[in-house]
Amino acid sequence: MTDTLNLHVAVIGGGPGGYAAAFLAADLGLKVTLIDPEVNPGGVCLYRGCIPSKALLHVAKLIDETHQAKNWGVEYADPTVDLSRLRSWKEGVIKKLTGGLGQLSKQRKVEYIQGRAAFDNSTTLRVSRGNGSTDSLSFDRIIIATGSRPAIIPSLKLETPRVMDSTSALDLSDVPATLLVVGGGYIGLELGTVYAALGSKVSVVEMLPGLLPGADRDLVLPLHKRLEKMFASIMLNTTVASVKQEANGIRVTFDGADVKEREKVFDKVLVSVGRKPNSEIPGLEKTKVKVGQRGFIQVNKQLQTDDPAIYAIGDVVGEPMLAHKASHEGRTAVEAIAGHKVAFEPNAIPAVVFTDPEIAWCGLTETQAQKDNRQIKVAKFPWGASGRALTLDRTEGMTKIIFDPESERVLGVGIVGVGAGELIAEGVLAMEMAATATDVELTIHPHPTLSETTMNAAEVFFGTSTDVYRPKR
Ligand code: FAD
Ligand code: NAD
Repeated sequence: MTDTLNLHVAVIGGGPGGYAAAFLAADLGLKVTLIDPEVNPGGVCLYRGCIPSKALLHVAKLIDETHQAKNWGVEYADPTVDLSRLRSWKEGVIKKLTGGLGQLSKQRKVEYIQGRAAFDNSTTLRVSRGNGSTDSLSFDRIIIATGSRPAIIPSLKLETPRVMDSTSALDLSDVPATLLVVGGGYIGLELGTVYAALGSKVSVVEMLPGLLPGADRDLVLPLHKRLEKMFASIMLNTTVASVKQEANGIRVTFDGADVKEREKVFDKVLVSVGRKPNSEIPGLEKTKVKVGQRGFIQVNKQLQTDDPAIYAIGDVVGEPMLAHKASHEGRTAVEAIAGHKVAFEPNAIPAVVFTDPEIAWCGLTETQAQKDNRQIKVAKFPWGASGRALTLDRTEGMTKIIFDPESERVLGVGIVGVGAGELIAEGVLAMEMAATATDVELTIHPHPTLSETTMNAAEVFFGTSTDVYRPKR
């Protein structure tokens, strides 16, 4: 048997999957090399994803609240935005976090190589460093954590800064007077919210009949209503037929049964129609790793590929393409390499859309239950009955729990409202602990908080909520 503690592991990619894997491997006593093109670990999430977008969304919420404050008797002058200071604040957040990861990497004696890796065979990598030198390095195990990149629609590909992807949109080079967002998913709505708060007239075009197709419709409705006020237009069942660069912007033509205005010129266009896995790693064909039809690397529950020496984690192995899924997969892969008996089998992976209101869910959705023809019981608690929501002047929210009607176990949780992203963690814990409606109902929650709405939803399940009135039939 191999002495697992003497293994030398290489991790390709320093995102939340890769750095978590590298750091845990070092903590477990393995020798570790982490390879990524950036000066420090961080990947898409820290450099051009989760973190910069959330920093900007924080500012967007603040701007929005200065307008709302009028309702509470507080008047602010219209805020002015100094884009260069906003950009440097955002960059500062990224620098602190990625610099911190660089430090943690050194403290753990992880060998960090700034460069790109290609495969020579299952255990040998060719690593090209930023300075032009190339090394051939051999390892016992290799973890692929190369992440994903924005999907491109060939007909929308114009080589002009007026057509942006999420990376260039986060650079915030300017605030266009008009912005068309193509794709009403996570990125389109989060970054659309940022640009709208900064002053752009934002239009969204979504090819499907609703925004955020993966989420239950009742969760999306309050967000849709608020976005209708914030955005210039939301065009559903619509696609972009063509784009053309003109002197003063991008001329866009729309296609679809519901189209009202077939042609319009926008200062800028943000294309956010999904992401593609980075599985085209040079030399991967020299290994036994298999890549599926949609480009995801195929792995088993230990995150091991068809090549026994190679593991893969994060966005490159499949959906949901979320940072917390990547890091948990990273932990599982490393524990498997270290010889622990593990499998990646979560009961629930939370999804959070950081718009205003936020939408968060975990486990089974009502939409999925309907598709599967599965019997469920749904209990909803409207935030209009939440004292805390009233004090925040944000009563449009809702907390719902999906139960198994027989065992009364929590099968899924969905929340829309301010702070939903924080609140969903309790739902995930409930699911991991196999909690029942009684467990949630008997858990005393602090008052007055939005977290109470989870307990209240369980009370609604039993028909015993004292905060809402349902006449007996
Ligand atoms: P990545 O973070 O993509 O990192 C992969 C790394 O590998 C990159 O640094 C890449 O340069 C490097 N790499 C690729 N090929 C090679 C090679 N050959 N050699 C060496 N290095 C290589 N998720 C959330 O959970 N919450 C959010 O709020 C959130 N917000 C997002 C906002 C935006 C705008 C975007 C774009 C994404 C967001 N995501 C969010 C998704 C999240 O960023 C990804 O799910 C996460 O980064 C995936 O982690 P990963 O480790 O798989 O790969
Ligand atoms: P997405 O899959 O969330 O949304 C893409 C949207 O574009 C979909 O609604 C789709 O129907 C639509 N679409 C596709 N082709 C279209 C076309 N031709 N015309 C009009 N609409 C079209 O993808 P995204 O917003 O690009 O984000 C990519 C991924 O990044 C997300 O799925 C998520 O995994 C991750 N992400 C997560 C967060 C978060 O956790 N808060 C934030 C941003 C990104």
